[in-house]
Amino acid sequence: MKKFEAAIAGGGVIGGAIALELARAGLRVAVFDRQQAGQEASWAGAGILSPAPENPGMVAMVPLGKASLALYPEFVGWVEEISGKSTGFRPKGTLEALFSHDTKAELSTIIALHHGLGLKAEPLRAEDARELEPALSEEVEAAVLRPEEGSVDNRALTTAILKAAERSGAEIFSGDGAKAIWREGNRCAGLLLQNEKVEAKWTIIAAGCFSATIEGIAPYVPVRPAKGQMAALRADDLKMERVLWSERIYLVPRNDGRILAGATIEYAGFDKRTTAGGIGKILSGAIDLAPGLANARLEETWAGLRPDSPDHLPILGPTDVDGLLIATGHFRSGILLAPVTARLVREWITEQRVSADWDRFSPLRFPSATADAASRVPA
Ligand SMILES: Cc1cc2nc3c(=O)[nH]c(=O)nc-3n(C[C@H](O)[C@H](O)[C@H](O)COP(=O)(O)OP(=O)(O)OC[C@H]3O[C@@H](n4cnc5c(N)ncnc54)[C@H](O)[C@@H]3O)c2cc1C
Repeated sequence: MKKFEAAIAGGGVIGGAIALELARAGLRVAVFDRQQAGQEASWAGAGILSPAPENPGMVAMVPLGKASLALYPEFVGWVEEISGKSTGFRPKGTLEALFSHDTKAELSTIIALHHGLGLKAEPLRAEDARELEPALSEEVEAAVLRPEEGSVDNRALTTAILKAAERSGAEIFSGDGAKAIWREGNRCAGLLLQNEKVEAKWTIIAAGCFSATIEGIAPYVPVRPAKGQMAALRADDLKMERVLWSERIYLVPRNDGRILAGATIEYAGFDKRTTAGGIGKILSGAIDLAPGLANARLEETWAGLRPDSPDHLPILGPTDVDGLLIATGHFRSGILLAPVTARLVREWITEQRVSADWDRFSPLRFPSATADAASRVPA
């Protein structure tokens, strides 16, 4: 039987970042992934680092997003130093293009919303936006620049985090997934793998949209997969510095010259196939935003599964089972939220307190979790 101080189920960006933080804090930690670690949502994402809410329901996540964005430079700094690998971090801002004819009203609403949340946002006239980003369409009427935002190459980042975690002492077991949590009364004693038990004082579930398939976890983690299709383009003569958004799509330039375009949001179970309709929508949105992309080469298409929760907010923190923590449900922001998630979990485990309010994200907020607890109370 393997024995660790902390056992993590899931080796995506979240499980990897937690392993790295805990290993750096001196804990004996292991990550168990049912396949090669880092090949699911963390591989498939776009890597935009933006705490701005997409709709009013996401406002609750803004403080967490801001805290994580603030940690990013230092986080990627030591990930790169320990792993010896680049993460493709680009803190160059993002630019949202507005096409409507009533841009004046739209612009002031967006700017007021951002400022109200303590997020930096600057209005730009169309010509100023095109001066910054010459690839933008002539149809763009105005834009919003968010100078503090940016992007990271999430594939490179996840690989670097896992390498840094290993170099800091964490053990990573690929091809060894968790079947269930190992429950002893009201304590979680570790993980049950396919053919083995893993004993751990702390068990952390970070298996993304697959978390609910681990026996004993479903009540705390009512996550479902939200499929996102993506495309990678290459246009030799087109310059793009920042992440560009329109209402329909986003474009994310990488250091290697590729431009990612994404993404759909589809609830199609665990299906990761790309479709003509999905990719078609992304490409037409991309060409409307930056018409020069019409001549770009289409280098790759793919789809991944975001871990979505019923209220679209992360599921983060301790459960009512001693020693069991959850870190999933990061939906469209898991790359952004990895540093703060790892820090909060490490603080809870090593200091029994956290430096940010995470009650809003408690795994106990779902009726299924409280119903489960009630059923365990002796009659
Ligand atoms: C198309 C797309 C675009 C995105 N764009 C962005 C973006 O721009 N910015 C941003 O911040 N976020 C973005 N996201 C979201 C982000 O990618 C996710 O929120 C994040 O990667 C979730 O990380 P994770 O580690 O929780 O999950 P995953 O990366 O899915 O990792 C979960 C891991 O658990 C493993 N696993 C599964 N079952 C078991 C088991 N039983 N036992 C052990 N291990 C198991 C899996 O093999 C996998 O390695 C995007 C996602 C997609 C799909």
